[in-house]
Amino acid sequence: MRPEEDEGYFYSYAHFDIHHEMLSDSVRTESYRAALLENTEMVRGKKVLDLGCGTGILSLFSAKAGATVTAVDMSDVLFQAIDIVRENKMESSITLLKGRLEDLNFEHHFDFIVSEWMGYFLLFEGMLDSVLHARDHHLAPGGTLLPNRCTMHILGADDMDTYNKLVVFWDDVYGFKMSCMKQEVVKEASTDVVKSENIITSAAIIADFDLMKIQPSDTEFTTKFSLAVSRQGQITTLVGYFDTFFDLPHPVYFSTGPHAKPTHWKQTLFYLPKPKPVSAGEVLEGSISVRRKRREVRSLDVSITLDGQTLRYVVE
Ligand code: SAH
Repeated sequence: MRPEEDEGYFYSYAHFDIHHEMLSDSVRTESYRAALLENTEMVRGKKVLDLGCGTGILSLFSAKAGATVTAVDMSDVLFQAIDIVRENKMESSITLLKGRLEDLNFEHHFDFIVSEWMGYFLLFEGMLDSVLHARDHHLAPGGTLLPNRCTMHILGADDMDTYNKLVVFWDDVYGFKMSCMKQEVVKEASTDVVKSENIITSAAIIADFDLMKIQPSDTEFTTKFSLAVSRQGQITTLVGYFDTFFDLPHPVYFSTGPHAKPTHWKQTLFYLPKPKPVSAGEVLEGSISVRRKRREVRSLDVSITLDGQTLRYVVE
């Protein structure tokens, strides 16, 4: 993507509210803290690149663990990060650079590249490309990405209450039919927290990304899945989420799934055009395909084939 086409993306990170949301997500932030501070013997004295430092929180954790840090961000929040580093008297261990990592043209190599790049349904935002660029250009031999692995999952949920509110709603609006609107609603993936009691199938892994190895093209994929139904009900929604792994001497992991404590990513919901009645023991076979949108490459086109019917969604 040409940098001038991407101004809106970086602008969205300039305001404090998005950083407040990320920092108040304790599952997210404490996982990074644990990865760095429960592995201090590995991090101490090492060079760390914080790619997309935002307020600088991951740089502060890294410096506290004894690392020398270079923090990079293209967004204006970098100016606040400079003040934050000063306020915490960490200037001697953290150097901050404003710019797009890909344009900085610096020659340095790092023992660790830490980044919180994950978007809705993992891949929305496309920031992973920058992480892979940093890996290929700035990771020292034997160096490690933090996190180093992510998996993507889907499962089936029976949530008639939400389905009625969002989809069935259009069948009768003040006595009028607006059912054409249902097609619009079910085309757009949405985000919400799914109650664990609404989960009625097993979860299928649809992607397992070893971040040390994958290429940007691996983030576009088609794969089959099967979901074992655990109890009778109606599948209204396919629920997408991801898990994140720091495979370190003291391993750290967090899930954004509906079984786990909610995060600011919540879950990504793909509503079915019609609820699908299922009984316990049944196995649903399907396939899912994830592609970048051709024009807005930070958005995703997702198609899901179930029962021979292909459903198309956008994640944006
Ligand atoms: N690390 C912070 C912020 C994460 S949000 C935290 O954990 O709270 C991701 C940040 O990465 C945003 O501030 C965004 O501006 C920045 N970013 C995304 N792609 C980038 C790139 N290619 N170069 C520099 N900064 C980037």
